[in-house]
Amino acid sequence: MERGQSRPLPSRRITTLAGGVGAAKFIRGLVRRIDPERLTVVVNTGDDDTFYGLHVSPDIDTISYTLAGVANRAQGWGLDGESFNALHALARFYGKPWFALGDRDLATHLYRTERMRHGISLSRITAEIADAFGVKSRIIPMSDDRVRTFVKLRGRRAIPFQEYFVRGRARGAVEKIELRGIGIARPNPAVLRAIGKSAAVILAPSNPFVSLGPILNLTGVRAALRRVKPRVAAISPIVAGKPIKGPAGKMLRGLGMEVSPLGVARLYRDIAGLFVLDNADRRYLESIERLGMRALATDTIMATPERAAALAEVVLRALAV
Ligand code: GDP
Repeated sequence: MERGQSRPLPSRRITTLAGGVGAAKFIRGLVRRIDPERLTVVVNTGDDDTFYGLHVSPDIDTISYTLAGVANRAQGWGLDGESFNALHALARFYGKPWFALGDRDLATHLYRTERMRHGISLSRITAEIADAFGVKSRIIPMSDDRVRTFVKLRGRRAIPFQEYFVRGRARGAVEKIELRGIGIARPNPAVLRAIGKSAAVILAPSNPFVSLGPILNLTGVRAALRRVKPRVAAISPIVAGKPIKGPAGKMLRGLGMEVSPLGVARLYRDIAGLFVLDNADRRYLESIERLGMRALATDTIMATPERAAALAEVVLRALAV
């Protein structure tokens, strides 16, 4: 082909749809396999909440701190080596805290809140924070509009996600997940562009309802994924009949679905061309393929960054990236 006539090179960008902890583990491995500058992470904001007047975006912060190499891995949230002096001082006025915010972490929330008060969008502020932390990847909040995840437990009124998850320690039978504001929220236009233009889109092994659910339910996101289905992979957060951590199992059960990789795969059958499950769940390979997606078994337990990197490698190869 002559110069000037050549077809555009296939995009080298990789997009990951992410919640918090499960996604962070995967992303830590992924950036060992690809140049972090190639990565776009679309992050859930349904868990965002206000504490002490500050706008906290737990999933965005988990992903930003992870990519900056300053996350507290043992804990799964916040910064490494944190102190909690401000939180203890706040207890004098507000009583015993139930949502922990470290001293240095508070600086992030102060900055975000102050910028929001000036009318700056969450996307721009997120980019500013990532930049300040030296993050090379692109982190995009799923929307600049407010979507709030509520959890309805049996016999109780619906409560905001953090009250269920952190204050209530995810106890109780889940009856319904409500995504308030989802009907009018617009996805960040960069989200749809990233999905359309990436060489691969990976649904991290995040909670399907409260982490990926808000992203996937924004108008236009599922349709955008359907158009590139062969390039979309999903990783199961359920291994050997239960989640590695968190309430995904209770939610699947409570909503009348099977607590297995098959139960999760059914949620993504229209959008994912590839479903990755754990070696322990090989027996589901065939039933998942019958849903109209490829299925692949590998070690999905990301106990170390090396194991997460190996998982990322398998997923990228299977998508021919
Ligand atoms: P959250 O927003 O902080 O709850 O985080 P995510 O939704 O991103 O991640 C929670 C999900 O990650 C849970 O359903 C876990 O089962 C899953 N998860 C955590 N660690 C692993 C792992 O090592 N392997 C797999 N396959 N899933 C994991």
